[in-house]
Amino acid sequence: MTDPTMESTTDPATDSVSHHTANTAADTGMVANGRGHSASRGRGPHDLGGLLRARIRDIPDYPQAGIVFKDITPLLADHVAFAGVVDAVVNHHGRGTVDKVVGVEARGFILAAPVAYHFGAGFVPVRKKGKLPAPTFEASYQLEYGEAVLEVHRDAFAGGDRVLIVDDVLATGGTVAATADLIRQAGGVVVGCSVLLELAILGARTRLTDLDVHALLQV
Ligand code: AMP
Repeated sequence: MTDPTMESTTDPATDSVSHHTANTAADTGMVANGRGHSASRGRGPHDLGGLLRARIRDIPDYPQAGIVFKDITPLLADHVAFAGVVDAVVNHHGRGTVDKVVGVEARGFILAAPVAYHFGAGFVPVRKKGKLPAPTFEASYQLEYGEAVLEVHRDAFAGGDRVLIVDDVLATGGTVAATADLIRQAGGVVVGCSVLLELAILGARTRLTDLDVHALLQV
C-alpha cells in the first residue's frame, strides 16, 4: 500500500544523486525553462496552470504521517487538463526532438505514454526491480528510508536515441537521477525531464544539474 518513494514536503531528503540546470519558476501556472513556451498558447485552455492546480489535490498524511501526497487522479479524469499536460510537454520540447519517452513506474506511465504518442516517439518503461522480463540495467537510489532499485531493458534504446524522462511529481530528484543513469547505461542520450509538478522545497534541481528540468507547475 505504501509507496516508499513518497517524500515529505517538510522533511527534505538528503540523498545524493545528480545535478541540475537552473530554470525559473513562474507561480502563475506554466513553468518553462526560458524558451518561452506556454501550454496556454494555441488550442489549450486559457489558464491551463490554474486548471492543473485546481485538479491536483493534497492528501495529508498519505501514504504515511507527515507526507502530503499530490493526487493527480482528478486531473487525469478531466480530459481538458490531461490533454493540456500532454500538449504542454510536447510544445515545450518541440516535435522532432525526441526519439523515446521514458515513463517511470507507475504514474509516470500514464503521462509518458500519450506524450510519446504525441511526439511520434517510442515509449520505454522504467520499472521497479524484478518487473521487467528481459535482461536489464539497474540503478539504485535513496528513499526516505533505505534504498530502491529501478531497471530498464538493456535493448530499450538504439545508440544515440534522444530520450525524454516524464514523471508526475519531482520531489528529491532521486528517481529522475536514477532514471537518467539507466538511460545512459543503455546507450540513450537524455535530452531532459518533464514533470507535472515540482516540489521545489526539496531541491531536486540542485541534484540534477546535468539535466534540462522542465516543470509545468511548482509548489
Ligand atoms: P523523488 O525521487 O524523491 O523525486 O520522488 C519522485 C517520485 O516519487 C515520483 O515518481 C512521484 O510519483 C513520487 N512522489 C514523491 N513525492 C510525492 C508526493 N508528495 N506526492 C505524490 N507523489 C510523490
